[in-house]
Amino acid sequence: MKGVNNYIKESLRSASEKLLYNKIIVFVKDPLPEGVDLDYVLSSIEKRVPEHLTYGIDMVYIGDFEEFKERDVNATYKDGALYITNEQSDADDMIDDIVHEMSHTCEDTYHSLIYTDGKIQNEFVGKRRRLYEILKAEEYRIDLEDFLNTEYSKDFDEFLYQEVGYDKLTFFTMGLFVSPYGATSYREYFANGFEHYFLNDPQYVKVVSPAVYDKVDGLVFMEI
Ligand SMILES: [Zn+2]
Repeated sequence: MKGVNNYIKESLRSASEKLLYNKIIVFVKDPLPEGVDLDYVLSSIEKRVPEHLTYGIDMVYIGDFEEFKERDVNATYKDGALYITNEQSDADDMIDDIVHEMSHTCEDTYHSLIYTDGKIQNEFVGKRRRLYEILKAEEYRIDLEDFLNTEYSKDFDEFLYQEVGYDKLTFFTMGLFVSPYGATSYREYFANGFEHYFLNDPQYVKVVSPAVYDKVDGLVFMEI
């Protein structure tokens, strides 16, 4: 009977749970849209991101979580778990979200390796200065001090996405940030580069954000 029990357990488990890298439990709390194939999402991530960069992640929860509304985000991570929205437009959208959050767990795990030498922060501040000059020339009423603050700021975020707006910001940040979201804070600057390194074009990250490229590349090839 053991075989039958295992079979039942397995099929119950497969209804809502999967494994990423054969060890991270992926729990689907709320259903994904029909067109999003979770097996494809997970195997794509396994193929692109080296397993040692998932150290510290035990669980991935997929669903609608209160915190998303409170913080106006669609993914987050906490205490070894990633929380990812089930509202995904397609598989790539979901892969982006998961790899993005992986970058933040990596930041925690390898914090001193990534940030102690200040190279990423310096590169980020240089880009923020440049963005300040671009927006100043466009006659936005702005303060340099806000641009030199490297931490996340809700006000600054609102300025970028509501006052300037995504389309204009994309135009102004072209060649300066890998994507406009990288202008948000130095941590998002790293996350943005990390995501593009694995999912898009690592050579583009090397050109636009060499300090981020060096760090991500170092993480990929480090001896552990
Ligand atoms: Zn982020």
